Amino acid sequence: QAKQAGRNIYHWYTDDLNREVSHSLRLRSDLQNALDSGDFELHYQPQLSLTTGRVTGLEALIRWRHPELGMVSPGDFIPLAESTGQIAALSDWVLQTACDARRQLLKLDHNLPISLNLSPVLFKDNQLVKHMVRTITENGLRCDQFELEILESVMFGHHDRALTLLNEMRDAGFRLSLDDFGTGFSSLNYLKSLPIHKVKIDRSFVQDLISDQNDAAIVRAIISMAHLLKLSVTAEGVETESQSAFLKREGCDEIQGFLHSRALPLPDLITYLDRTRWQAENDASVTPDNS
Ligand code: C2E
Ligand code: MG
Ligand code: MG
Ligand code: MG
Repeated sequence: QAKQAGRNIYHWYTDDLNREVSHSLRLRSDLQNALDSGDFELHYQPQLSLTTGRVTGLEALIRWRHPELGMVSPGDFIPLAESTGQIAALSDWVLQTACDARRQLLKLDHNLPISLNLSPVLFKDNQLVKHMVRTITENGLRCDQFELEILESVMFGHHDRALTLLNEMRDAGFRLSLDDFGTGFSSLNYLKSLPIHKVKIDRSFVQDLISDQNDAAIVRAIISMAHLLKLSVTAEGVETESQSAFLKREGCDEIQGFLHSRALPLPDLITYLDRTRWQAENDASVTPDNS
């Protein structure tokens, strides 16, 4: 009977494995067509200042609306695109689309910097920075209106090469942030050597901030360490008022998360920005009466 059970588990396992392999083969071949068919969308998640409560920036997050599978998460297809080399074309599309969005938003008087996630695979390309600068200037925009998010973990092992690139990016005018910060064990000394402007505290520490004393201590330590180095701090994945209040008390500069908004398609983002601006103006106009 045990043997029988073992065999069932084995069958289960191979079925799952087969499903997974064929799923990823399927995605791989579909990825080729998706760019041509316009199946990708770029969504934008607002980042808010904890001091003013206003939107201070947007993070561009890619979405794949697969014709049969529905929404495929970037966590599933970005690694795939990185392994096939398609990430280069994908990133070009993201940058061009973000430039279009930035121009549209400017016309509506929403002057907000856009953050882009930069795949470490692109670091191999010697022309990367030149290429990005060209796209941005051809769109009549400036690099200082864009922020590049680099994974903290990427800096390890390729330190010299990455440092050269980061310096090149900063010299071109880009703002730089370390994404998923806290998961890569950066030392203070190490962080000091990087030409960055901001760290983004990883969502995993924010999630249990209120219930887990260790996470609370880590978040506090990251904020004070970053401020010592004159870096700005954004917390990702903020979902509740109590997380937001904790972060504000500890001096965190900005938050991003479902509490305020998910990543939105451009038309929805515009509605959100118009509404929050209207609220901010109304709040401002009632203040004198209260004082
Ligand atoms: P990331 O850069 O750390 O982005 C933050 C992720 O957290 C996003 O997931 C976002 O939707 C999610 N998030 C934001 N607020 C909350 C919250 O309050 N609660 C929860 N549970 N989640 C929240 P998403 O869009 O699935 O992206 C996952 C990762 O895929 C990103 O992590 C980034 O590393 C990568 N990615 C996304 N777009 C691009 C892109 O255009 N290029 C590259 N190279 N990577 C991308
Ligand atoms: Mg990011
Ligand atoms: Mg992140
Ligand atoms: Mg992440």
